[in-house]
Amino acid sequence: MPSKAPKTFHLVSLGCSKNTVDSDSMAQLLGNAGFRPVANPNQAGVLLVNTCGFIGPARDESYRVLNELAAHKRGGQLLIAAGCLTQRYGMEVAQRVPGLDGILGTRRWMDIVDVVTQLRRAKHPEPLYHLPTEAITVGTDEHEALRVSVQGASAYIKIADGCRRPCAFCAIPLIKGTAVSRPVDAILAEARALRDLGVRELILIAQDSTDYGHDLGMKEGLSTLLEELVRAVPDVDWVRIMYAFPGYVTDRMIETMATHKQLIPYLDMPLQHAHPMTLRRMRRPANMDWVRETLAKMRTAMPDLSLRTTFIVGYPGETDEEFQTLLDFVQETRFDRVGAFQFSFEPGTTSEPLGDPVPAEVKQARYEQLMELQQPISMEKNQAFVGKTLEVLVEGQGKVEGSGEPISIGRSYRDAPEIDGVVLIEGDVPAGEMVPVRITGAMAYDLVGTVGWGNQGVIGLEALGVK
Ligand code: SF4
Repeated sequence: MPSKAPKTFHLVSLGCSKNTVDSDSMAQLLGNAGFRPVANPNQAGVLLVNTCGFIGPARDESYRVLNELAAHKRGGQLLIAAGCLTQRYGMEVAQRVPGLDGILGTRRWMDIVDVVTQLRRAKHPEPLYHLPTEAITVGTDEHEALRVSVQGASAYIKIADGCRRPCAFCAIPLIKGTAVSRPVDAILAEARALRDLGVRELILIAQDSTDYGHDLGMKEGLSTLLEELVRAVPDVDWVRIMYAFPGYVTDRMIETMATHKQLIPYLDMPLQHAHPMTLRRMRRPANMDWVRETLAKMRTAMPDLSLRTTFIVGYPGETDEEFQTLLDFVQETRFDRVGAFQFSFEPGTTSEPLGDPVPAEVKQARYEQLMELQQPISMEKNQAFVGKTLEVLVEGQGKVEGSGEPISIGRSYRDAPEIDGVVLIEGDVPAGEMVPVRITGAMAYDLVGTVGWGNQGVIGLEALGVK
């Protein structure tokens, strides 16, 4: 008997920005099929969780969210698990989430309407299991959903999905399959559509953005795409590049970034470690001379460059000496932003035979030591901006605790959403505005300022061609 539940859905999106784009694309397809999004799960006919299955803590969170919704599920409601957890663990998810009605793999997010329609048409004794064994090419635009996620005046654009790198600790290739780039024209069309929506910052994401176009037979695919983008949307303020793979930041890419003011001097390049032996065991590029040379080249070409990276501590076999090499490298390189993870044992990855020998307390101690080393570096980097002016994209307002004074929150070119710092601006500035902010104070990760021009030079604005 067809379901009488309302055509409404409540979507919970977990994990990375790439999952956020898949969630928004599923929401678009459901919207096109007449379903209305609701914030309150009790009012939803469909409960949809786009899960993350990358590492242990992320899996735990996905199961917690699913079981919470299952526990409060009411008659007629459908609970569907999508995303990386289901792609990786399939029916095991159903065994751990009683009351689950449907399972949809991350490679087939575009089938969400079919799955919902089937489930609404007839009750299924067993969860409806939609995990095609053969990988459908994730990148091909065979559906009418935009591959973007708009967050205020910023938007993520997914330029590719999947990954062909052999990193031993990583389950992404198992989950997503190999790297598939999206057509250049599709990305340019989305960039224009976002510009027309008033978006001021485009954030390019993939598992490995520097591999863009390889499967399309393009040489220097990312540089080509960037050049096409600045031609297609010259009036978008910022284009930000996330997830560069070491060894693939080329001279042409550096030159392209340095030449075009929209391509903001910011790069996220996860290095994962700095000791060649550890990197080799990780099956990651281990040529640290290349890393040092390339970072130096980038800083010469873009003096205002803001560099972000990520490291893993506690990888199997990591000795005190190897960890000390990492600390020395961080001290020497002085990154603007550093993220760190403790090694998570991932069955099915090529690191599995190495086990998980580094004790949890050693991992924790190394994690804390690394972040404690980075904090004063980040503080000094921030202090260098006091008295200078940064262009800030305003994202929200608040009140100063205690005084209740109005304050606005934004990001400069140095801050990617959710993972980097913010700029706190005195006063009330409308969200979506791009304003010059004179920096008056610095904290370990955030800056404070007032709208207006400083007198000690203008940072970022020059690089952004603002005189
Ligand atoms: S580049 Fe390495 S760490 Fe990143 S998604 Fe690919 S395999 Fe995983």
